[in-house]
Amino acid sequence: MEMDSIQEILLTESQIAARVQQLGKEISRDYQGKDLVLVGILKGAICFFSDLMRQVKIPVNIDFMAVSSYGSASQTSGVVKILKDLDMAIEGRHVLIVEDIVDTGLTLNYLKTNLLSRNPASLKVVALLDKPDRRLIDIHADYLGFSIPDHFVVGYGIDYAEQYRSLPFVAILDPAAYQSEVKE
Ligand code: 5GP
Repeated sequence: MEMDSIQEILLTESQIAARVQQLGKEISRDYQGKDLVLVGILKGAICFFSDLMRQVKIPVNIDFMAVSSYGSASQTSGVVKILKDLDMAIEGRHVLIVEDIVDTGLTLNYLKTNLLSRNPASLKVVALLDKPDRRLIDIHADYLGFSIPDHFVVGYGIDYAEQYRSLPFVAILDPAAYQSEVKE
């Protein structure tokens, strides 16, 4: 059972919904009259993306990228591989990256550098979660849902070994759930 490995619910469904609504309002106001492309980063941002886009009350285009992580959480090479690139051209358009978590910042740094080379009119980031304690690069989200302590979290699209994504809340995973597998 997935719930057996949940240590604590960090953000409830209603807390997330309220914050996402606020973020949608800010984004709608800031991008009024602009050609906005929301770029979701698969797969972790899937729930955040689909809720946020419905709270953005101005016309948008949507697109997705999938990137591989650079290895385990302790590795810091910063090497990120694009598994799925955008379908759309973003030159001259206002791009907002929609990300699940900014942790070390390496993934976001790579994504921003990569997308900036395509000459968008602007490039900003909205992240659901930020773990500032683990940052290795001075980078931040322009719009942020929640700043959280350094725990390994799952749910609301965010996985551990492809599990837990469908939980409607964000929870701290019991370390026993992944430490036992690391030893194998
Ligand atoms: P960064 O490059 O900032 O270190 O890593 C960002 C990515 O690492 C996130 O998009 C997410 O996929 C993954 N990540 C970071 N922290 C966590 C966490 O607590 N739980 C899970 N499941 N993934 C995380």
